[in-house]
Amino acid sequence: VPDADSLAGRFVLNRSASPASAAERAQALQDLHFGSAFTDHMVHARWTRAAGWQDHAVIPYAPVTLSPAAAVLHYAQEVFEGIKAYRHADGTVWTFRPRYNAVRMNASARRMALPELPEEDFIASLVDLVRVEHLWVPEGAGESLYLRPFAFASEPFLGVRASEVVDYYVIASPAGSYFPHGLEPLSIWVTTGYHRAGRGGTGAAKTGGNYASSLLPQQEAYSQGCDQVCFLDDVTRSSVEELGGMNIMVVNADGTVRTPRLTGTILEGSTRSAIMTLLREEGRPVVEETITLAGLLEDIRDGQVSEVFACGTAAVVVPIGRLAGEDFEVTIAGSQVSRQVYERLTGIQYGTREDTHGWMYRL
Ligand code: PMP
Repeated sequence: VPDADSLAGRFVLNRSASPASAAERAQALQDLHFGSAFTDHMVHARWTRAAGWQDHAVIPYAPVTLSPAAAVLHYAQEVFEGIKAYRHADGTVWTFRPRYNAVRMNASARRMALPELPEEDFIASLVDLVRVEHLWVPEGAGESLYLRPFAFASEPFLGVRASEVVDYYVIASPAGSYFPHGLEPLSIWVTTGYHRAGRGGTGAAKTGGNYASSLLPQQEAYSQGCDQVCFLDDVTRSSVEELGGMNIMVVNADGTVRTPRLTGTILEGSTRSAIMTLLREEGRPVVEETITLAGLLEDIRDGQVSEVFACGTAAVVVPIGRLAGEDFEVTIAGSQVSRQVYERLTGIQYGTREDTHGWMYRL
């Protein structure tokens, strides 16, 4: 990937006439949660079938105007990404494996019949936005500027076919911990009545519909006193797939780490992939395999599984302390491996550990 200086400037800056004052920004950065505060600018580019991608710009953050007939509002032709910018102790700002997200967004786009964005333009869009918004990158422990690239069908047309007009945006949101209780162990509801994805469906794509369909089971999880929902596969209805927005990992008492193999119904997480690399470097066996719920519950009960954790960009790594479902409930005490992985991964991301993989990209 070319360095940021050589990509910078592809998105032409149209500076906001009314950015937040220093005091307003300081206020917004004071008590950070996840996803509720936004910066002064956003990235935009438009694709048309006739002309391809054009009008690459960084523009003032503002509501988007859409025709009520815009295809995305009816048929959900949309993809998105999530990636963070981290401030290091020397003040420089970095992101983590941006090419991974560029490639994944294009894979999602292909599945949703949306145009691909050249990888260099995806990375340039992050560079140009974060350079304008560098004062919005917080510096507290575990804080970051969460970047949300997304593209959607904006053509006003009610026929069911791929849109001939697509808009790409990136917005930025200063972020603290994803869960209100930080790194407290999660309580997970394993739903059997709903599935997130089916074979040949869109589970491996990062597209809004997957999240829309997860909201009702997520509410079921809340009403059962749980923080998040875990989905089983839709064919055998017996194997663990992932959470609504995170991948899942299981640590055996013998040190082996297991994670569900990618079947086309699971989103391939950047965090999952990095963690597998870090654990293998430590000499731990890491296997991608089918993990049945029945086997997992049995292994937890008889002590063969010592730890279960979830991972993703937003929440990083969080231990799972309880798994519950219609006819079971188990608790899991361990969090040693997840804590260690959290320290190693965030150490690389925040620049306190050496980045031996070339994962970090200076914005
Ligand atoms: N699964 C789902 C369904 C997700 O939405 C996410 C978040 N993108 C993940 C897994 C984790 O992916 P990543 O580590 O790239 O954030």
